[in-house]
Amino acid sequence: MCMLSRLFSSTSQSPDAATPMVHTPAGPTLEGIGLLRAFGSGEARTVAVNDASIGLRSGEMNLLMGPSGSGKSTLLAILSALLRPEAGQVRALGEDLWTMSETQLERFRLRNCSYIFQGYNLFPALTASQQLEVVLKWGESATNHEAKLRARTVLGQLGMAHKAHLRPAQLSGGEKQRVAIARALVKNPNFIFADEPTSALDWENGQAVIELLRGCARDRGATVLVVTHDHRLVPYADRVFEMADGKLQPESLAHDTVTFLSSETSVDIPPLPPDRPRLRLVEPMPVAG
Ligand code: ADP
Ligand code: MG
Repeated sequence: MCMLSRLFSSTSQSPDAATPMVHTPAGPTLEGIGLLRAFGSGEARTVAVNDASIGLRSGEMNLLMGPSGSGKSTLLAILSALLRPEAGQVRALGEDLWTMSETQLERFRLRNCSYIFQGYNLFPALTASQQLEVVLKWGESATNHEAKLRARTVLGQLGMAHKAHLRPAQLSGGEKQRVAIARALVKNPNFIFADEPTSALDWENGQAVIELLRGCARDRGATVLVVTHDHRLVPYADRVFEMADGKLQPESLAHDTVTFLSSETSVDIPPLPPDRPRLRLVEPMPVAG
């Protein structure tokens, strides 16, 4: 069993979360159909997402790329149940997201979605461990004791056990992003949405993050969507989608896109990484009690 699988399987999870997802490569687990979203009105109206349709499958790592202002964050927000589209439909795990009530949406997000943002979005007043604990207490009604144990296990496996008691201000950028990833993983989500998750990190930490996200897809069957403008991440993706002026361009496989992107941008694409984890995932710390 690979290290990431161990990360998930060794946590003491609720029966629901511990049940592996049925891997269904044939059909999309997340589908956007004819999505439209604009901001402002009259002359100031900007169409951020213009008739976008996209299908994402379980077990795959997807990149959404394109120039600044092309609508990537808006599309990610619509697909991830955060922003209501003006037109179109999002089907997630067979459910029609935007016909749900606010309460149903909230429940859907809590149960199925994890979000990772560029600014980490950590609570300044909470320790690394508490950042994870609140997710478990709110999302899964875990007891204090259970939340502490699971937080400690996941942080330990990300090599952050010794920093579990520190607050964000006491952590480096790479460490903060690692806590944000741990928080995303601790609830074992069906969907992971990440908006520019590596842009504040150096390449080594960025690679570690993207490998972890890819591992969530491969090992756990999560559907992962990452917005990025970093072409070095392309070799890690199963599929790459391009946006321009609110329009989703025809999808191409990562390998094809490397050729396409490099001819346009002359960015050096690194070779595919060797098949070994670069992030140090260590054994869970023994837990008392
Ligand atoms: P990207 O993530 O590709 O940089 P965005 O989705 O953030 O693009 O934005 C797409 C377009 O929509 C841009 O022109 C942006 O200015 C506009 N936009 C995004 N969010 C808002 C908002 N909350 N209010 C007004 N305009 C917005
Ligand atoms: Mg953006």
